[in-house]
Amino acid sequence: MDSKLLERANHKCELCGSVENLSTLEVTPSNGSIEQTICVCDTCRNQIDGNVVLDSNHFRCLGDSMWSEIPAVQVVSYRLLKKLNNQELLDMLYLEDDIKAWADSEVESSETQELPKDSNGTVLNQGDSVTIIKDLEVKGANFTAKRGTLVKGIILNGNPEQVEGKVNGTRIVLLSCFLKKV
Ligand SMILES: [Zn+2]
Repeated sequence: MDSKLLERANHKCELCGSVENLSTLEVTPSNGSIEQTICVCDTCRNQIDGNVVLDSNHFRCLGDSMWSEIPAVQVVSYRLLKKLNNQELLDMLYLEDDIKAWADSEVESSETQELPKDSNGTVLNQGDSVTIIKDLEVKGANFTAKRGTLVKGIILNGNPEQVEGKVNGTRIVLLSCFLKKV
């Protein structure tokens, strides 16, 4: 394990303070640098890595770790508090904008696992091409997206019922049930 990281962590788990079985945890999305890793004990790691119900008793430690000066520790604390639905502590936790964006990047991706499906039930992925199967009035843009229009390079917006794409040079939201993957 990186000696600089151990030194920063004071040879303790940066979440719960345990001194046993320490290892490195990369805080995704991570470039592997020390700024984007934290030092954790086995108990914390198993809770974070494993698909287990989080032990809210153990993670009372987050009430301390969330005040860490180390952004990566703040990010992990924030994500765990979210998973634990601990709104009380989340309300108290203040993250700088860039740290908040980092912290949310994983929370969001785990929530958007559900991908939109086209009219045939085929999963649509970012960058796919689709055709529109029904004339669609585009609200606010004053045109109709015609049936049969090809939309290249769709963009997923996190809503499992929608995709976004350019029609007539305008980026619009399309309901995935009116699309067919090409
Ligand atoms: Zn720990």
